[in-house]
Amino acid sequence: MTKNKFDPKGKTFKQRLEAFLDDVKATHKITIGRDSGRTVVWQTTHHVAHMFLYNRYKSTKPLKSHLTKRTISWEHFSDPKIVWNTIKQADFLRTKKNVAPVKFGNAWKSGFEPDEETTIKYVKSIQTKAGIGDSGKAMVSAGLKPCGEPCKCGAGRSKHLDGVAADLKTVGLNQLTASLVKAKAGTIDDYLKKYGLHRPFLNHAKSPEPWHIEAL
Ligand SMILES: [Zn+2]
Ligand SMILES: [Zn+2]
Repeated sequence: MTKNKFDPKGKTFKQRLEAFLDDVKATHKITIGRDSGRTVVWQTTHHVAHMFLYNRYKSTKPLKSHLTKRTISWEHFSDPKIVWNTIKQADFLRTKKNVAPVKFGNAWKSGFEPDEETTIKYVKSIQTKAGIGDSGKAMVSAGLKPCGEPCKCGAGRSKHLDGVAADLKTVGLNQLTASLVKAKAGTIDDYLKKYGLHRPFLNHAKSPEPWHIEAL
């Protein structure tokens, strides 16, 4: 451990996280990577995909939702008259032949209409390719405030975009756990607490996120 004890009081989330990661490096010789590249477009893309496929949010649902599944309804998702906010509809929808649909005025061009089954498969791949947790099913918060078309739910904007949350790489967290066990030095959460940090979704019932870090 470092000689000078870190006092998180009055420190920003960024300062706390940097001090924590520096100490992990100095004490355990482990560099924990963190997810970067979170932008409004990234966040909106994966939030809308989540709300179309799964919606694991208990307290909110899209404005035009499927009656029982609480996800964005296919009628609304594939409506050629809806103008999407920040992201492009053609980047999500796929025809039976697995290509982007084509518009003809305010309608879909004949033979190039979006197909529900192919689109679901394609949007699932968007989530898994981006490394969204729980095999792509983990919740992703909104990128816009308020959330826009085609979702328009009440979910809050991502804390990642406001610089008050970070996702740490699971590989690094696992290495640190092993090192702490070996040194009989307590848990990762004890360690984080010393830096005024915690994992608020560690034991989330539906969508646990052991990699997600916030300030206490
Ligand atoms: Zn939304
Ligand atoms: Zn996160």
